[in-house]
Amino acid sequence: MEGPLWAPWRMQYIEAGSEPRACIFCEPSEPLSDAQRLVLHRSEHVFVLLNRFPYSPGHLMVAPYAHVGLVEELDTETQRDLMARISDSARLLRAQYDCEGLNIGANIGRAGGAGFEAHVHFHLVPRWSGDHNFMTVVGEIRVIPKHLEKIYEELLERFQELA
Ligand SMILES: [Zn+2]
Repeated sequence: MEGPLWAPWRMQYIEAGSEPRACIFCEPSEPLSDAQRLVLHRSEHVFVLLNRFPYSPGHLMVAPYAHVGLVEELDTETQRDLMARISDSARLLRAQYDCEGLNIGANIGRAGGAGFEAHVHFHLVPRWSGDHNFMTVVGEIRVIPKHLEKIYEELLERFQELA
């Protein structure tokens, strides 16, 4: 992959990959553990989870508990918490994977490329110079759950620093 990553059509493709019927950012009706949901950290208003369909290894998402589609619908406390956890996540990703860059952003609304337009969430995608070479690896991660579990364990340990 050359050039800028933040192509909404690409993210739409990634998000469409999970084809959920229920909102994946809301608590499921049948309780699942944080490990099952790949949740790495919970703060008062927001939580951090690993993307099950990563664009690159360590692809995280930060979402509020509140089921709202627009950032401006979040109260000030939640907006602050969101930015603080995005900042923590960026720092921990850098520490764990030594990534040289990050893409941080949100797709808002269907026209903005959102796969889950009803529940706002931010993506953090680690980047490395020449990381188009990672894309094959990412393909493997998608089909080999063990890799995703390994990344989850590694990052979970990192996120304990915040506890
Ligand atoms: Zn939701």
